[in-house]
Amino acid sequence: TNQVNNPKTREWQAMSREHHLAPFSDYQQLHEKGPRIVTKADGVYLWDSEGNKILDGMAGLWCVAVGYGREELVEAAAKQMRELPFYNTFFMTAHPPVLELAKAIAAIAPEGMNHVFFTGSGSEGNDTMLRMVRHYWACKGQPNKKVIISRHNGYHGSTVAGASLGGMKYMHEQGDLPIPGIVHIPQPYWFGEGGDMSPDEFGIWAADQLEKKILEVGEDNVAAFLAEPIQGAGGVIIPPDTYWPRIREILAKYDILFVADEVICGFGRTGEWFGSDYYGNKPDLMTIAKGLTSGYVPMGGLIVGDKVFQTINAGGDFNHGFTYSGHPVAAAVGLENIRILREEKIIERVKAETAPYLQKRLRELADHPLVGEVRGVGMLGAIELAKNKQTRERFPSETGVGMICRTHCFENGLIMRAVGDTMIIAPPLVISKSEIDELIEKARKCLDLTA
Ligand code: PLP
Repeated sequence: TNQVNNPKTREWQAMSREHHLAPFSDYQQLHEKGPRIVTKADGVYLWDSEGNKILDGMAGLWCVAVGYGREELVEAAAKQMRELPFYNTFFMTAHPPVLELAKAIAAIAPEGMNHVFFTGSGSEGNDTMLRMVRHYWACKGQPNKKVIISRHNGYHGSTVAGASLGGMKYMHEQGDLPIPGIVHIPQPYWFGEGGDMSPDEFGIWAADQLEKKILEVGEDNVAAFLAEPIQGAGGVIIPPDTYWPRIREILAKYDILFVADEVICGFGRTGEWFGSDYYGNKPDLMTIAKGLTSGYVPMGGLIVGDKVFQTINAGGDFNHGFTYSGHPVAAAVGLENIRILREEKIIERVKAETAPYLQKRLRELADHPLVGEVRGVGMLGAIELAKNKQTRERFPSETGVGMICRTHCFENGLIMRAVGDTMIIAPPLVISKSEIDELIEKARKCLDLTA
């Protein structure tokens, strides 16, 4: 671990050990090593309590789209806090920021998606989705249509419904999940699961698993299919080119709703406003969070297309909502964040300049002996570590190369996340070409150190 010189670091680490239960952590390990304490940030850089400057290749947790240190977002929050720090949107009330944000989201969402239900997080967005799609079918007189089909290794959050919708086995194992009415199909992960098929053949096979599952469960029992356009936390799984077109064909045959989880892909990560735009998909609902506020304050939501809206609009009470649904400060920040993305043409620049550059430079790492495959779209990338490029043979799991590489990154001023043996990047959308050069150079150095 890093050397500790600042006495404050030790104090904070003691507080962690004595009082803090961090998410997704092995507490003993965390307490032994002590967390790295991040104290400030600017642009694409973080600083820790030891004064180390770190290039944040993960935009926090895939969320800081416009980069750190944007005064306009600070101002928007402060102004809103002075004016109206809180009011709810329950029981026949609203406030200007929530209405203006809903309108701004409708303006950038795919055609026909004009209504937004706000939540405090992406997990709550998916919980809302589950309740809304079942409500929708009940309103339509088909209350049996309850089952939601999602995918192995998809990530949809950590609440009971979110973790159930997600396909992470290690999450299901804790808390007796999934809850009833949620079933999973294979993921379109060619490198790991494609076997002898070509990527295109495998894409068709993986998509066909949706049809197989619909027929197995019975169309009359299926409410919706839920998927991330690109699986993020599962390891930046870029589906083969054949996958989404085949899924669209299948969805056109059956009367079920299509939900895109845009929590990672939304707000420009692929170089389009939404991952669904990138793939030409036409979802009925989209879950959002993260890039909506660039993570400056928590906020999530569910964008609802006209078809679902028209039915639930005539369906009486929707008995669902959170104290912080449409929180005015979060809404003001979200609105300002969208203004920045639009007026500074950040997504256009990602698409035309920085994403092609990042993708080109990332692929230069494919010649490294530790690297099995490099893949990515827009400002998302994965470097898959493997023992053999041709056979796609893995390192034995006890080797833990992903974690070793991640630790080298940490110690050399770069945040990359390890999902098993896949190194993930998702930098702020505002990253410059020279910062991309720095990211790639550091990544190569860390691969060398891991080898
Ligand atoms: N959906 C996706 C695709 C995510 O990546 C995440 C979080 O990483 C979530 C949902 C859950 O969002 P939150 O952590 O805000 O609850």
